[in-house]
Amino acid sequence: MKSVLITGSNKGIGFETARQLGKKGFYVIISGRNEEKVNQSLAKLHKEGIDADQLIMDVSDRESIQEAATEFSKRNLTLDVLINNAAILMKEDRSLLTNATSILENTLQTNCFGVINVTKEFLQFIPDGGRIINISSGGGSMSDEVGGWSPAYCVSKATLNMITKQLSFELLGKNIAVNSLCPGWVRTDMGGQGASRSVEKGAETPVWLASEAPQSFTGKFFRDMKEIPW
Ligand code: NDP
Repeated sequence: MKSVLITGSNKGIGFETARQLGKKGFYVIISGRNEEKVNQSLAKLHKEGIDADQLIMDVSDRESIQEAATEFSKRNLTLDVLINNAAILMKEDRSLLTNATSILENTLQTNCFGVINVTKEFLQFIPDGGRIINISSGGGSMSDEVGGWSPAYCVSKATLNMITKQLSFELLGKNIAVNSLCPGWVRTDMGGQGASRSVEKGAETPVWLASEAPQSFTGKFFRDMKEIPW
């Protein structure tokens, strides 16, 4: 049975990805920073007959990540797939020039340093042939027009895309595939109720990258299970 750890998966696209991978027979470890919310979500997975557990981890906090890795090490599991999904988009995020620098710092701390720190701590559990999937965004695209929305978030996702490329290069020797994806505009707390896509559709590409995509795909950016330009 393959195992998958998904950060920030007590709700939204992360939770739906956990649900769909659980239905496909993965052993699912959901994760989040709020124990009560994580346990409620775990109970929902169990109710659907999914083999799942939880790990409390705040990806913006290095100590919390280290504690989670120590806890994980006691479970004698390998980690076939790590999905770096947790991210924030701050409502105050309107300008790189006039916003307090803390908006950008907080956003990078969760959306970029979070990914690097989680990957560093959990790499020891990922076997050769494993997969790392980074949930990015079209907002991080360097080839699309800049839309003027949430600039710190967009900077963080462009940075995340380069993190993906760098990690994919570093992990070539271990045959660990590292890819980014854009889920599209999805109806979640982050995407809002006006978004064009259901959460089921939003989870489609991460589920595919975790389970069916060729292992040779690495260092790439995907949407709708197709490679897209950076
Ligand atoms: P949600 O806001 O619905 O969910 C985000 C999840 O991340 C929550 O579980 C949240 O936990 C968790 N999280 C946030 N900060 C931390 C942290 N420091 N430590 C641990 N968990 C944390 O967002 P979505 O499901 O919409 O987004 C999932 C991914 O998809 C993100 O990477 C996002 O950038 C990306 N994305 C989403 C789009 C959309 O339209 N929805 C479009 C493009 C990309 P808590 O409940 O505690 O807040």
